[in-house]
Amino acid sequence: MQQHDVIVIGGGHAGTEAAAAAARVGARTLLLTQQLDTIGQMSCNPAIGGIAKGTVVREIDALGGIMARATDLSRIQFRMLNRSKGPAVWSPRAQCDRTLYRSAVRRLLERHDCLTFAQGTVASLEVRGGRAERVCTEDGRVFAARAVVITAGTFLRGRIHIGVETAIPAGRAGEPPCGDLPQTLQTHGLTLFRFKTGTPPRIDGRTVNFTVLGRQDGDADPYWFSFLERAPHPAQLPCWLTYTNDQLRDLVRSRLSESAMYGGAIGSRGPRYCPSIEDKILRFPDVARHQVFLEPEGLETTELYVNGLSTSLPPGIQLEMLRSVLGLERVEMTRPGYAIEYDYIPPTQLTATLETRAVRGLFLAGQINGTTGYEEAAGQGIVAGINAAAHALGREPTVLGRDEAVIGTLIDDLVTRGVDEPYRLFTSRLEYRLLLRQENALRRLAPVARRLGLWTESQRVAAERRLELEDHVLELAHRTRLTPEQANAILAPPGGRVVSHPVRATELAKRPGITLEQLMRAAGMECDRDACTWGDVELKYAGYLDRERSAAARLADQNDFLLPDSIDYTSLTALSFEAREKLHSLRPRTLGQAARIPGVSPSDLQNLLREVVRLRVSRETGLLQS
Ligand code: FAD
Repeated sequence: MQQHDVIVIGGGHAGTEAAAAAARVGARTLLLTQQLDTIGQMSCNPAIGGIAKGTVVREIDALGGIMARATDLSRIQFRMLNRSKGPAVWSPRAQCDRTLYRSAVRRLLERHDCLTFAQGTVASLEVRGGRAERVCTEDGRVFAARAVVITAGTFLRGRIHIGVETAIPAGRAGEPPCGDLPQTLQTHGLTLFRFKTGTPPRIDGRTVNFTVLGRQDGDADPYWFSFLERAPHPAQLPCWLTYTNDQLRDLVRSRLSESAMYGGAIGSRGPRYCPSIEDKILRFPDVARHQVFLEPEGLETTELYVNGLSTSLPPGIQLEMLRSVLGLERVEMTRPGYAIEYDYIPPTQLTATLETRAVRGLFLAGQINGTTGYEEAAGQGIVAGINAAAHALGREPTVLGRDEAVIGTLIDDLVTRGVDEPYRLFTSRLEYRLLLRQENALRRLAPVARRLGLWTESQRVAAERRLELEDHVLELAHRTRLTPEQANAILAPPGGRVVSHPVRATELAKRPGITLEQLMRAAGMECDRDACTWGDVELKYAGYLDRERSAAARLADQNDFLLPDSIDYTSLTALSFEAREKLHSLRPRTLGQAARIPGVSPSDLQNLLREVVRLRVSRETGLLQS
């Protein structure tokens, strides 16, 4: 029997980051997955990043992860979303070549000496003395480990629905579900619920009339998701825009009873913000047309992803629907859209390290925790991998704070609030959204990466160099005064307030529409562009950033107030019944976590604080007396 420090089950976005992170900190790690060839597979749209998610990708990179580097190696279109709104809320997004992405992930994983791979479907988990000990595959192999991370995605009792007649057991199209793993997890005390999600049809690009469609090219920006490595980007491709129309709306309405989601075949809940075309037409009856983006699947294929037409109608109706759209009159459908129902594990059963409370040494990450999205999965994966390795090697656990990382907010939301629909990241979930920016991810997380040893030597050199460049730019800008001639060339047009005496670059950079890079160039200095972008945000938003930092510091006192593990919440009668029940089942680690549990009111918190202080005092005086 093979013995490992950490076994990661599943080679999706959570599993690959978990395996890489565990291996990077020195744990002998096995990535055990159903099919080695689908490592890094994108189940749905081959796109990475976007609002809030793009920041997660950069955080993963800052922690030495692989998603950013794989994206740089496979991106075929790049766009910086929110560019018109100012750099503090910029959100990088890339369309990727699906095949290149997968092979980049595999290649990057294979660089880790401590990481080995095995193909197999895990059927059961053996637990002894409340600790995860061994996993067994369907073909009878047994692997032992000190910690196990399960990242099974949509594969737990996965069932694909196309129309009301077709229901296929599957983890995703063409791949079987994961056998008996759900039953094992239930046996070990975990509760499972069900969610659903869906995907649109794919089409043959050779049958599309592009001449009538809107063309959308990406940015020319050579942006790299990775701070740590600069990979050459492949060739870039455009996306195409068209719209639904009355004909499509009437067709969907008239055939609604044949949709798996509306005809009664599926009962579970799906993501509200990723609606199917059926949802959109019912929920927004007055909207005349919905956008449909045709997005390339890769450089070596003509297949296109039809973003905006997710559906679970029968294939015949899907084709009719597609052909009603401008530019798709003669289209051929290569794969039908479908809905999938699957089990997930309500994440309130986990601690902030993503370890289950029911089984020590068992960690869960990704869609299995009720989230949706590659980035959400990968962000959890890296934290689960770090903590599984820490558990196996007897080291301290790592928890990222809500003011430290978007990943920290995501995990805290999951374990303290739980989910009632597939959880996706939005900026509105981030109370520290100005602190948690995409361009400062390295600065925020470098201390964690250094402490845990998450970087290779070359990554360490690249990271330290980038941080030095940023410090240098800001220092230089403080020292540099622009003469009126230098400054006014930038400030004057159109209608800018000109200056009549030398002014510091740091002062001028606070003006909207003026960038630090422009100013430094006007002063005769060529500075690193990325470093300037960071400096620009720090200067322009200095007041807001200070306010967020002090709010975070104030809350940190509350956040850091530890609640003892042994506390019996049911006996705290000064708290409301609802608060006692929630605290008893969720067992928050800190007062800050308790504050975020829905149903726990400010007066409950005050009473809880009083009780904990009283317990501490009586314990200390008891100790003194004995
Ligand atoms: P996955 O990527 O699903 O990976 C799971 C891995 O575990 C696979 O490698 C699988 O082979 C392996 N595995 C499972 N069981 C076992 C076992 N017993 N033994 C060994 N290996 C096992 N996200 C969005 O952001 N937008 C969307 O529009 C969107 N649409 C989606 C549509 C569909 C149809 C699906 C299936 C998913 C969609 N998602 C979407 C979600 C996104 O694909 C997932 O959130 C993401 O892939 C989850 O990553 P993961 O690592 O948790 O799981």
